[in-house]
Amino acid sequence: MAASGAVLAECLDRLEAAVAPGVTTADLDAMAEEFIVSKGGVPSFKGYHGFPGSICPSINAEVVHAIPGPVALVEGDIVSIDCGVTLDGWVSDSARTIPVGEVSGVAASLMDATRRSLAAGIQAARPGNRTGDIGAAVQEVVERAGFQVVRTLVGHGVGRSMHEEPQVPNFGKPGTGVLLEEGVVIAIEPMVTQGDHEVILGHDGWVVTTKDGGLAAHFEHTVAITASGPRILTRHAG
Ligand code: MG
Ligand code: MG
Repeated sequence: MAASGAVLAECLDRLEAAVAPGVTTADLDAMAEEFIVSKGGVPSFKGYHGFPGSICPSINAEVVHAIPGPVALVEGDIVSIDCGVTLDGWVSDSARTIPVGEVSGVAASLMDATRRSLAAGIQAARPGNRTGDIGAAVQEVVERAGFQVVRTLVGHGVGRSMHEEPQVPNFGKPGTGVLLEEGVVIAIEPMVTQGDHEVILGHDGWVVTTKDGGLAAHFEHTVAITASGPRILTRHAG
């Protein structure tokens, strides 16, 4: 899983470097697929329940699951790129929200809070803790910053399949939920909204957007729960 995660980390690094005004989400999708295949991997998203792309590039009020296409990024946008890699049968799942050029202060704050909430959630991913400890840690950082966490979409176990037990909500109470045991691997993925946390499904049956049209950010890592603490598998070593 660490090998799969390393490919995914490098893939997202490359996409982040390529994000610029005028680049289309289809361009980014093609880059991702080409890179993953060049490393001997398979884009986990492609064909998943019929999804047509290798990434989900969700822009501004889009939270997750946007389909790549001819839409070009615009200066001031934020784009959340979610991607999965299957390597030797092991899946990794990671996302990050990337600014397109100069973005508004609130967009920058939203991304910062979401990134920090992921870090807090990861710190709670330890043997003996429960999924509610992760959710509570994420929620506290987000709400302290004046934002909200999406309720209807959650993190998840990951392994041979992209979505396994347990569910890992981004809200909750400490000491509640599923017990986290050594060796379990989970995708922790705060989805955070500028305004209200309610979301709606788009007409294409895939894209999820904020109901109030406010911005959304999404950061995700695949994390192994080990005796010595959380090990982030979708980040470069060192
Ligand atoms: Mg993901
Ligand atoms: Mg995920």
